[in-house]
Amino acid sequence: MYSEIKLTRQKLGFQLFGEKPLAADGRKRPVGDPIALGGKYHDFEHVFWQAMSHHQPVACFMSLCERQRAAARSDPVRFRLHPASTVVTGCFVNRIARRRKYSSEPMNKKTVFLGIESSCDETAAAVVARGADGHGEILADVVLSQMEEHAAFGGVVPEIAARAHVEAMDRLIAEAIHQSGVSLQDIDGIAATIGPGLIGGLLVGAMSGKAIAYASGKPFYGVNHLEGHALTARLTDGVSFPFLMLLVSGGHTQIVLVRGVGQYERWGTTIDDALGEAFDKTAKLMDLGYPGGPQVEKAAVTGNPKRIPLPRPMRGEARLDFSFSGLKTAVRQAAQALAPLEEQDVADLCAAFQLAVAETLRDRVGRSLARFRAEGLADEDRPALVVAGGVAANSAIREVLTSLCESQGFAFVAPPIRLCTDNAVMIAWAGLEREAAGLSANGLDMAVRSRWPLDAKASALIGSGKKGAKA
Ligand code: ADP
Ligand code: MG
Repeated sequence: MYSEIKLTRQKLGFQLFGEKPLAADGRKRPVGDPIALGGKYHDFEHVFWQAMSHHQPVACFMSLCERQRAAARSDPVRFRLHPASTVVTGCFVNRIARRRKYSSEPMNKKTVFLGIESSCDETAAAVVARGADGHGEILADVVLSQMEEHAAFGGVVPEIAARAHVEAMDRLIAEAIHQSGVSLQDIDGIAATIGPGLIGGLLVGAMSGKAIAYASGKPFYGVNHLEGHALTARLTDGVSFPFLMLLVSGGHTQIVLVRGVGQYERWGTTIDDALGEAFDKTAKLMDLGYPGGPQVEKAAVTGNPKRIPLPRPMRGEARLDFSFSGLKTAVRQAAQALAPLEEQDVADLCAAFQLAVAETLRDRVGRSLARFRAEGLADEDRPALVVAGGVAANSAIREVLTSLCESQGFAFVAPPIRLCTDNAVMIAWAGLEREAAGLSANGLDMAVRSRWPLDAKASALIGSGKKGAKA
């Protein structure tokens, strides 16, 4: 392997970083590794420009733990995400640093973070400021959905997602910084989602964030995607701790007690499909298109929810978990019994499915609110139930949650739907909240994690596999 490394070109890298990072992939110069392993800015820049001038592909190993690196070595193509992703990011950083003069107006003690999100099927970058009083301000918010890329497959295809993130990431970060009107110099920290999610996408976002953090000398905060969802309502509505969060998206269905920044208790989670996934699969079954949630909701408007009986999974159970795969199977069986499906059959099936979901949530969330009260957690008269995730766009679900909260004395807080679905504002904000809470930046060697429960004590459930809880 070493014979393949051209020592003349690599001399600087060897001197600076030792042989280990170069050994990660002898065929390509792992410019990313020096970033992860430390080094001075100017040295880094030298390595960087050298790589660029040779149009050399760059290995993306910096976010991998040793075991993943080993896997990558035996399959270099799989883990080499993009021929020049790091290089482009680096160019951009240099360009911005040169073009913009340092702002003469101080940010009035505001702390400003760049946020990056790429854990699933949205590529996003944002710039958010937080004042000393805890108020936040969104300076830029750019999201690129990959919906069209995945539509033909009826769900998110991880490899397609990772490639799409690579193609868009640099452009989006540039756009976000441009929109924000602040210079890179004004940005105090970089926050990127490092888990849980699809590993390829996470690598792209984490790699870009770490490269910018390193090149600009800013701290890097690796953020848990779920923490971003959990804290968004503090940015949008100033919600105070403790509060309950219901997260219902394509990848997650959870009820989480949010006690403070970094203090989460997962009270319930799905033991099989996420709720958004159940919507998407139901839609796929009836050829309604992707993403399925909005299509099911639309078809349900003209349907009779009572015609087809469907189960209310987990209703009445003391534990606060969810299960949707049985409901999905029941829909499939009902559809098969009615086949060929007329338009009215589809509408009735969708309406019945939506009603089953709404009633299931009424039970699960209702019990959670009662537990919140019973445990004496409510410091305030009207503690908050916060929703997050794309399914929170569903009006039938919102109605149920609103009436539940009214009847149990909770404030129902639903951030704007743009901030309920995946976005980078929430990631920047989570970084800002961590910084304000005195939680230190976790550094450039933090690896991405496909599994990363927000609540470290959360137990693994059936379907989690040997590796424990996924999220
Ligand atoms: P993820 O990125 O984890 O898939 P998002 O927060 O981006 O989740 O939300 C996407 C999910 O939300 C999809 O599963 C989609 O079907 C669902 N969804 C979007 N709008 C609605 C709606 N009106 N009703 C039900 N589900 C919806
Ligand atoms: Mg999404």
